[in-house]
Order: sequence, then C-alpha cells, then structure tokens
Amino acid sequence: MVPFVDLKSQYMGIRQEILDAVAGVLDSGQYVLGSEVAAFEKEFAAFSGAAHGVAVNSGTSALHLALLTAGVGRGDEVITIPFTFVATVASIYYTGATPVFVDVDPVSYTMDAAQVEAAITPRTKAILPVHLYGQMADMDALRAIAKKHNLVLIEDAAQAHGAEYNGARAGSLGDMACFSFYPGKNLGAYGEGGMVVTNNAESARMLRMLRDWGAEKKYEHVLKGYNYRMEGVQGAILRVKLRHLEAWTEGRRQAAGWYEEMMGDAGVARPVEVSGRRHVYHVYGVMTPQRAGLMKHLNDRGVQTGIHYPIPVHLLPAYEDLGYKQGQFPVSERLANQELSLPMYPEITREHVRTVCEAVGAFAGAVPA
Ligand SMILES: *Cc1c(COP(=O)(O)O)cnc(C)c1O
Repeated sequence: MVPFVDLKSQYMGIRQEILDAVAGVLDSGQYVLGSEVAAFEKEFAAFSGAAHGVAVNSGTSALHLALLTAGVGRGDEVITIPFTFVATVASIYYTGATPVFVDVDPVSYTMDAAQVEAAITPRTKAILPVHLYGQMADMDALRAIAKKHNLVLIEDAAQAHGAEYNGARAGSLGDMACFSFYPGKNLGAYGEGGMVVTNNAESARMLRMLRDWGAEKKYEHVLKGYNYRMEGVQGAILRVKLRHLEAWTEGRRQAAGWYEEMMGDAGVARPVEVSGRRHVYHVYGVMTPQRAGLMKHLNDRGVQTGIHYPIPVHLLPAYEDLGYKQGQFPVSERLANQELSLPMYPEITREHVRTVCEAVGAFAGAVPA
C-alpha cells in the first residue's frame, strides 16, 4: 500500500521533541498566544523573508484579517482565481466584498497575470493570487500591476511554505501573505493554525489587534475584532517542526525528482517547475483526461490518490450567486476535470514512488491515448 500522505510517520520521528514542547506550554500556563507563539511568529517571519508575523487560528482567519487590514469591505472587489481551495474565496465574502475571478495559467496553474488588468474596475481593492500546490504565482508581473493600479497584493501562501520566486520566499513579495498550518500542509500544527506575514509595521499592528478583539490594551476595543488567536500548544509544536521544514521540503523535492525520473512518458502531464521558482510540492498533481479510470486503476493496486480540486469555485453551488457560467474559465475547468494528486510527503521512499510510477505506466499501456 502506498498512502497518499503519512502524518503519523513524521510525528514518530519527532515525538519526544513534540511531547517536551507541549509539556513546556502546559507547565507555563500560557495556553493562548504567549511566549512560544511570539517566538514562532519571529522565526516563521524570518523563514519567509518578512519582518513581522501575526499568528492566528487558521489560514482562513489569516486571509480574512489580511483583507480587512487592506481596507477591503462591502462594495469592494478582490481579484482571485477559481481553481483553488474554497477558503480563498470564502475569506473575500467574509469582508462583504465580491470575488472577481481570472483564469489560471495552463503551465504553472497559478493566476494568469495577463488576464488581471481586464478584470480591474474602480471597485477593485486587492489582488489575491494563490501559490497553488506549492509553486509561487508570477509575482513580478502581479507586483507591477498592483503598483500601477494602486492595489494591495495579498499572497495566499497556504500551500507554499518555503517556496521561492527568483530567490525570494513566499511571504516576502506581497504586501501581506497568508499561511495555513492545517495538519496536512507542508508545515502543519497538531490542530489548526495560520499566520499573516508582512513587512509593514502598521499592518502588523492592525492584524495583532484584529485577531484579539480589536484591542491592544485589555477591554479598550478600538476596532471591531475577532477571536482568531493561536493556541500556545500549536505555537510550541510549530517551532519544533519549523526546524525540520527545510529537510522535509527537500524530501518532497527529491520525491518529485523521482517521479520525473521514473514516470517516463506515461501519458499524464507532470507538474512543471517554472524556471526561477522553487516548487515545494504541497501537492504532486498530474493531469490526465482519463482521471476516473487512472484513479480506480491506482486504487486497485493500493496507491491512494486525491483530487485538488474537482469543482472550480465558480461552479460550486455555494457561489452560484456570483453568476458565473460553465465555460468562462476554461483552464480552471479542464484542470478540475483532469487533476489527480499522487502520493507526496517528505518521508515517501523511492520504492513507493517506483510502485506508483509502474502502476501509472501499466494504465497508460492498457488504455489507448
Ligand atoms: C488550506 C488552505 C486555506 C485555508 O487554510 P485553513 O488553515 O484550512 O483555514 C486557504 N487557501 C488555500 C489555498 C489552502 O490550501
């Protein structure tokens, strides 16, 4: 059996470090925010090449607060992509603003910068690209557009801890960047977690207030805030795990190399690492017009797979009110129909990857192209 992900084997490798860190928080009594969370904010911001980090209780909360801090609210528009996890779009709704979609690029699967300017209106406040699967969007082009039109650029970096664009880390190129520490993400808590990083001290101050009821001093609420605080235990766990993240990312990149080497020309489109970008392979997604057949074929051979994501957000029942129709974002729609995520995690062995590649190859041999 080749599992799709294996969170438990990673935990077993760091079990004692984690237990010590958790015991430290329980002994300290700092159960919400506290010194471990503060230290993690500093360490993760530095890791991402940003000056400030504000830890929150999920990636979705990070997106919500970044948008609010950008001044996004009712009547505004935010440009994003429909081929993403629903949270990207939901966070725009939380502010009362309207999501406006542009399609993704067929090679990188990230926001097609060439389509952004046509989507800008007088109501546009921000651009929210997604570093999908762990590869960064075309930040040079998006930064230029944001600057020209005076828009705030917010990175959805929930899948891209440690990814790079011409040597700059995810988190260092937008006005703000939002990370998720959901357990399955490249850096995962043992519970929920998220962070906004930014180089802007004023934004960081506002984010800190908004996550904790809009107050800097207890009971002096200057903003209408939220309870989006990170738990102390998660901060301590994430500090331990951050120390291993580079090695884990290299494990993922090595596995991607094995897939590249052993899959051969098996009739599926493998992910492309665009020149100048460091892909961190949160998801290893291949594209095939015969997804259902390949998925069943792999499952029958003990290879677990996933789909990220089967329905683009503009076609989800929940977002019907946006009024988009089938056919409006052809690349997103094709990818949603064709994407199959193969097993990918830092500890995956070369033998596991070989098993997957042989199973994919056997399917290609069995089905006319
Ligand atoms: C996981 C994810 C989120 C949301 O993060 P949570 O921590 O689950 O709230 C947002 N955007 C993308 C692209 C994600 O993958």
